[in-house]
Amino acid sequence: MSESVLKKEFRGADLQRLRNLVQGKMGDKTSVSSGYVKDHVDRKEGEVWEEDSRQWTIKNGVKQTISKLQAVRDVALTPLFCPDCKTLMKGRYDGQFYKIHRHCFDCHIKFEAEIKKEGRWEEYQSQVQNSEIDGMINNYEIWVDDLLNETNDGFVTELGEVESWSKVNRDKIIKQKEEAIEYLKKLKK
Ligand SMILES: [Zn+2]
Repeated sequence: MSESVLKKEFRGADLQRLRNLVQGKMGDKTSVSSGYVKDHVDRKEGEVWEEDSRQWTIKNGVKQTISKLQAVRDVALTPLFCPDCKTLMKGRYDGQFYKIHRHCFDCHIKFEAEIKKEGRWEEYQSQVQNSEIDGMINNYEIWVDDLLNETNDGFVTELGEVESWSKVNRDKIIKQKEEAIEYLKKLKK
């Protein structure tokens, strides 16, 4: 997905808005303070409120339901005990290592030593990269689908303005999503 391909598909403000959406950015400082506006109520990043009997919040400038955010958070949740050695994961690096490797720091040190001994270090390194890219693709898909499915009555632009989804906008974002995923897949070894 080169810069020139992007420019052909999206122009000017469209391009910048989609870029900000894809990057999950709030934009410049002014957008943070302007927040979300509906029925003359100012909504700010991180604020939680009830509407249509659902809980909503603003995350990265985009209005979305709490339940979806919770579902994403649960996936990333670290268990108390390491699934491999069954010891309590209380070490300084355990949480960090669990998120990537699904076991504790000690288990991972042993695992890498074993891999090196077997002479599979290079092969292992490219596997790690591939699974990191898969994780990135997965998160990105959840994020874009959330955006499209959970904000039917509009989305918040980088300037804090509410815009309605049009068919054109949806199609553009779906196309952009497919292109981004294609691009990420090409990074795999
Ligand atoms: Zn362990």
